Amino acid sequence: MVLFPGFLSDLSEPGRLDGLTYGLLGSLIGHEISHAFDSEGISRNGDGIVGEQWRDDVTKKVFDRQVRRIEEHYGNLTLEGAFAKVNGTTTRNENMADITGELLAYRAYLRLREKVGGEEPGLQIPLQTGNRVQGPVLSARQLFWVSYASCYCSAYSPEMIDAELLLDRDDAHLPNYYRVTGSLMNLKEFAAAFSCPSGSYMNPTQKILVWGSGTNDVQGD
Ligand SMILES: [Zn+2]
Repeated sequence: MVLFPGFLSDLSEPGRLDGLTYGLLGSLIGHEISHAFDSEGISRNGDGIVGEQWRDDVTKKVFDRQVRRIEEHYGNLTLEGAFAKVNGTTTRNENMADITGELLAYRAYLRLREKVGGEEPGLQIPLQTGNRVQGPVLSARQLFWVSYASCYCSAYSPEMIDAELLLDRDDAHLPNYYRVTGSLMNLKEFAAAFSCPSGSYMNPTQKILVWGSGTNDVQGD
């Protein structure tokens, strides 16, 4: 099965759905902005000078607790056939930026569509099987998440993922499989778009956000 080249990544295509652009480019921009509020960025003030002027004791306490929960969450991720443990501590800032960036981009996308005319139409994913072109029809909100995940699309065996984790224990970035699944399972917006049953692997009842908790409105999903 082959995904048509450029289907999700051609940002200049006329008539391209906003959801595809926001899912891919918006999430990446959100990720980078979010680094200003990770466990290193948070110790700098608005001018980039090391200091904690803007963070009160309550914020610090909640932030530190959520960071620990993120470390534990990623440290407990598993993949069938793989045995190497994820290092939740060295990867925490990248993982926090993934979750926050995706959430920011999704909210920005919903806000844009509210302003310009509501939901976008769904789209058939053009997958080629042999000589036939066919594929599932996804809603615009589902396409947002597929577009995000597409930038990490890769094929690994469990052994390769083990090797990647074991060879560089200090790498701040996780293998793509863990980056995508580990972040999306913390977003109820993703679960709502795909109707993931509550308590399933991608929709656990306990979700962890460092930034944005309590305000992610998914009405209409
Ligand atoms: Zn990053």
